[in-house]
Amino acid sequence: MTRTAIVTGAARGIGAATAVQLAADGFAVAVLDLDAEACAGTVAAIEATGGRAIAVGANVADSADVASAVASVADELGAPTVLVNNAGILRDNLLFKMTDDDWDAVLGVHLRGAFLMSRAVQGYQVKEGWGRIVNLSSTSALGNRGQANYAAAKAGMQGFTKTLAIELGRYGVTANAVAPGFIQTDMTKATAERMGVSFEDFLAGAAKEIPVGRPGQPEDVAAAVSFFCSEAASFVSGQVLYVAGGPKA
Ligand code: NAP
Repeated sequence: MTRTAIVTGAARGIGAATAVQLAADGFAVAVLDLDAEACAGTVAAIEATGGRAIAVGANVADSADVASAVASVADELGAPTVLVNNAGILRDNLLFKMTDDDWDAVLGVHLRGAFLMSRAVQGYQVKEGWGRIVNLSSTSALGNRGQANYAAAKAGMQGFTKTLAIELGRYGVTANAVAPGFIQTDMTKATAERMGVSFEDFLAGAAKEIPVGRPGQPEDVAAAVSFFCSEAASFVSGQVLYVAGGPKA
């Protein structure tokens, strides 16, 4: 039996690597991002290895978008019982310069997005008596200069995850969070640009602070998500796994 997974923000970066990994694990995958066309590369990568995937365009922060996207996935691929809430944005600024919009946009995509997607998917999970939700937190949940909005959202993801685990466990649904450290993606590239540092220097500087001596790759995070989505992880729920090349807590 093929189960269906939805990965949000899967056009690139960690979401794309996660979609590819879950397809390799045997899931049919809905590759969801703001722009369906931007998902073509991820879908092609999955199909090239014999997997099944569709592109879905939706804004996870928009209730109507989410409802129609999840319904169309159920129609085309079958009941979505795995959900990876990965879509994310940055609007970094020191508190005194942070605008209302910086705050609302970040909380909207990460927290409201994860809430809307999880609420839409849980009906299918409960009906099937099986499900997996994995939420992307971050080491920034522990506090990070210039990221009051993002840190609040990523800490919020952890409380949200633990509550889903408590509410949905009796229906065979687990909920866990993966909290990456520094991962080499367009998101960290944009941070380097904003700071006026070359990406190479930014990566080298980050590597010096990481015990294993290298920045993380999207596949490092995808491997952790894959574990939480597996049958073997059915007794692991409400956990936060830091994937950061060293200890964080
Ligand atoms: P990324 O390369 O910027 O990719 C994020 C994806 O999410 C983009 O394709 C983006 O689409 C999409 N997205 C943004 N807003 C959306 C919305 N409202 N609805 C649907 N899709 C939306 O980011 P990443 O580095 O792979 O990060 C993925 C996740 O890991 C995020 O939650 C991030 O906070 C978290 N994380 C990343 C790091 C890191 O070091 N990279 C560390 C810790 C946690 P557009 O291209 O159209 O904007």
